[in-house]
Amino acid sequence: MGRVSVNAVSKVYDGDIVAVDEVSAEIRDGEFVTIVGPSGSGKSTLLRMIAGLEDITDGTVEIGGEAVNGVQPQDRGVAMVFQNYALYPHMTARKNMSYGLKLTTDLPQDEIDAKVEEAAEMMGIEKQLDKKPGSLSGGQQQRVATGRAIVRDPEVFLFDEPLSNLDAKLRLHMRTELQQLQDELGTTAIYVTHDQEEAMTMSDRIIVLNEGEIQQIGTPEEIYGEPANQFVADFVGSPSMNTFPVELRDDVLVGTAFEYTLPETYRERVSKRASDGEELVLGIRPEHVDVVETGGQNTIRASLDVREPVGSDNFLYLSVGDEECCVRVSGERQPEEGTTLTMRFDPSHLHLFERDSGRNLLYGAHDQTRASEAPQESMVSTEG
Ligand code: ADP
Repeated sequence: MGRVSVNAVSKVYDGDIVAVDEVSAEIRDGEFVTIVGPSGSGKSTLLRMIAGLEDITDGTVEIGGEAVNGVQPQDRGVAMVFQNYALYPHMTARKNMSYGLKLTTDLPQDEIDAKVEEAAEMMGIEKQLDKKPGSLSGGQQQRVATGRAIVRDPEVFLFDEPLSNLDAKLRLHMRTELQQLQDELGTTAIYVTHDQEEAMTMSDRIIVLNEGEIQQIGTPEEIYGEPANQFVADFVGSPSMNTFPVELRDDVLVGTAFEYTLPETYRERVSKRASDGEELVLGIRPEHVDVVETGGQNTIRASLDVREPVGSDNFLYLSVGDEECCVRVSGERQPEEGTTLTMRFDPSHLHLFERDSGRNLLYGAHDQTRASEAPQESMVSTEG
């Protein structure tokens, strides 16, 4: 069973560099979980502790229900694919893939050969098996490195930024290839990346790390739609969520260039969590801002600086006082640059962060407000 439990795991280097700080997470058998965060957030260190390549300062790691602190990497049932592939340059692809098995198992040669052939077929590198890494492309080297992990028949795959050395197009292709492979094999996968888009597109669930601490664990939809704090909100999504500093006065959020009356549904929750006069940050994603014809309560005037066509959509970059707001509209809407537009925020996708801690005061408050977006589903559930 490829279940992985990380229990209050910490890593302290040189007595005072806390790389990973009491991280706990449960990764289910067969799940594809991505650890994402900026450079230096502790992703690799955490993965290497799971792999057994780094001592654990505190806490326990369990694989398949067994504590593995102190167990050698080759005895943990894991196989790791590294960013730099870590292939032996003087060995053929075939030898690179079989070497580990020869070293750590007593499988007969014909069985090893069969495993290598099978993995090569899976990765589409049958014709490259007798070439050395130097004469393979980046994508092919990546496939050999993955093939080498497959032949070990692990309970858990550990990927450390495996696609970051590839060009953008190949990276996109390899994402799908790795996902399909994991799907086919059903093997638990823990995948480290600094690329939020990679995390969003590949994972069953995402662990967001910052400064060695977990910020949030959730499905891509939860992480995107219900960020626990401003760090997660900023880190995930491109262009980023729009944010405006505001002050809470009664039920009104007073910004530097606009006032926004808090929707009724959020008032009780906010009044319990924030005091009058408190400094907060209002957040809204570009696709949750609408450009409307007429003004009225909670509409905001803004001047259009730049209109940027992106595929079927237009990104509008607007100025609201000294602040910028990006709005995503359909490509058919082409307002003139320099004109003044009226914006309306979709209240069911509003976020409100504490200025100091970044905590999202509306975390978990959107379920009801967004229910109206799926009328068919809710009809089914009331009937059923
Ligand atoms: P990420 O993979 O998210 O980029 P790392 O896990 O590599 O982050 O590093 C987390 C923190 O631990 C960083 O501050 C890094 O400088 C530090 N660190 C990593 N490895 C070592 C080491 N061998 N000795 C000292 N500090 C280290």
